[in-house]
Amino acid sequence: MMVITIGKNPDNDYIIEDPQVSRHHARLTREADGFWLLEDLGSLNGTFVNGIQIIKKRIVPTDNICVGKDCRIDFKELLKSKNDYSEEFNALKKVYDNYTKEKVRIQSANQFKTRLFQALPFALLGIVGMVINSAGKGSSVWYVVCMLLIICAPVVGVYLGAHQSAKIPQQLQDLTNQFKIDYVCPKCGTFLGDIPWESLKNKKHCPISSCQARWTEE
Ligand SMILES: [Zn+2]
Repeated sequence: MMVITIGKNPDNDYIIEDPQVSRHHARLTREADGFWLLEDLGSLNGTFVNGIQIIKKRIVPTDNICVGKDCRIDFKELLKSKNDYSEEFNALKKVYDNYTKEKVRIQSANQFKTRLFQALPFALLGIVGMVINSAGKGSSVWYVVCMLLIICAPVVGVYLGAHQSAKIPQQLQDLTNQFKIDYVCPKCGTFLGDIPWESLKNKKHCPISSCQARWTEE
């Protein structure tokens, strides 16, 4: 069960240096069913949820929490005082999924284009053949052109195909560069590598041991 204490004293989890905040002002507890309970610890200036003074109240992360009349507390910051980065970590799932999806898309789109470019000269060959047919007379010039095309088509096809497939690394490089910026520990900013999101979730914390960021709810 996670408990976050709030107050002016240094022994609190979340320390607020403000004259209207008591030394041990309030306590936030995550209950077994996942709900958050905010309790005022007999503070001088009171604890407020959405503008209403409370002694003890179940809250949700979007509630407006104030200790004293106007000292607002950000719920996310409260969690971070306990190294809880589960919310930010959950958002990384989308980053990872998009990256893998996009990678496959680029690869298969390029595979298709590569085949297309390889086949192109052969298609040209067919068109020339049709032109000769419809002309009805095989002039020697056409015959030579046709022969040249037959000889060159595979070479040109291979060249065009190779040219197209060389474009893949650049696109993938751009994608990977962006991924390296986005797929990072929400606390220390370390790139989380090519580790799938599910595996990271099972690890339950940042791979950098000095970071101490956690992303599982206890
Ligand atoms: Zn970290």
